[in-house]
Amino acid sequence: MPRFKSRIKEALVHRHEQGLTRQLKVLENSNGPLLSSEGSYFINFSSNDYLGLANDPELVEAWQNGLSQYGAGSAASPLVTGFSSAHRNLEAQLCEWLGFERAILFSSGFSANQALLFSLLEKDDVLLQDKLNHASLMEAGVLSPATTKRFKHNDVQHLESLLSRSPQSLVVTEGVFSMDGDQAPLEDIASLTNEYDSWLAVDDAHGIGVLGDRGAGSCNAVQITPNILVVTFGKAFGLSGAAILCSSEGGDYLTQFARHHVYSTAMPPSQAFALSHACQMIQTQDWRREKLIELGGIYAEQMKGIQGFVDTKTPIKPFVIGEAQTALSIAEELKRNQIWVTAIRPPTVQAGTARLRITLTANHTQKQVNQLSRSLLQAIELSCALKGEV
Ligand SMILES: *Cc1c(COP(=O)(O)O)cnc(C)c1O
Repeated sequence: MPRFKSRIKEALVHRHEQGLTRQLKVLENSNGPLLSSEGSYFINFSSNDYLGLANDPELVEAWQNGLSQYGAGSAASPLVTGFSSAHRNLEAQLCEWLGFERAILFSSGFSANQALLFSLLEKDDVLLQDKLNHASLMEAGVLSPATTKRFKHNDVQHLESLLSRSPQSLVVTEGVFSMDGDQAPLEDIASLTNEYDSWLAVDDAHGIGVLGDRGAGSCNAVQITPNILVVTFGKAFGLSGAAILCSSEGGDYLTQFARHHVYSTAMPPSQAFALSHACQMIQTQDWRREKLIELGGIYAEQMKGIQGFVDTKTPIKPFVIGEAQTALSIAEELKRNQIWVTAIRPPTVQAGTARLRITLTANHTQKQVNQLSRSLLQAIELSCALKGEV
């Protein structure tokens, strides 16, 4: 058998034996609070559309207007002819809102993170990453010419011990961690990077739009300005794409050397136009953030004290179960009660910490959150009963 064919077969068998096979599922309305699958409806607690913008008529209309104004595709990479006034306006708006000199656009957060680390790092550099950073950052770090070291999750002391041995490092953390919903101690990390002549890059994929004044994100919330800020548009913006915010020189540098920017077709101008509109909605519609806080409070009130419940200040509410198989069967039981949550298993999270990743959005109702808590409590009880624990 040709080696690639056998490699694929073996890898699939191995995944299956571990019970970790993943599958694509066709869903309808999964960008709203009620999704449907094979004719049944479920309350959707799995989306990253925290502010409820992904299917908002106002945003849909903005994209339609962008299409009328700019046509469909960008037709080229940004440095060739793909950069329009819609792109420039979006960059300017992001800079003003978030307090940076330059913003460089990318088609995804994954590519922005890769572009950042690949273009900035050289052979003698040290990259210090939080152990729970997103796969795009981890992979780019490992493939970059720099030496990558991971510091224990949110552990400032561990970070300091690494920095004291390698000053002039690049420290990369997330503002809000995607699978735990907790926040990095950004003030402490920023003062450490300062003290050790290092640079700080923050990936705020889950904080932008949700935290801070007018949704300006995790850094704004604690009044720090990292050297580099990555924001992505696939979560609270309700769309897709990403931007790297930096100094004017940093922007010039990325324009020369960020290969994912230089050699990739620019996002459609209509999308940039819609993103500008999302930017305004995020800044002016405080009620969306207030709603999230209200719903988070209700959920916490109902779940506190239950083993596995983790209190967070973000719309990401992990419910840690442990075994991958148990997490799966509890998620299945929830589906029988019209609740859609995703079981997150290794290798996405550490072995033994399989969990339900529950996310709230501004489009959920109190009633839906009540239903979530009730069904979750029942499903846990049932699971314990089946295991003979009660
Ligand atoms: C989702 C995510 C990304 C990737 O962004 P995409 O736009 O989905 O490619 C990067 N970093 C973090 C922390 C994320 O959660």
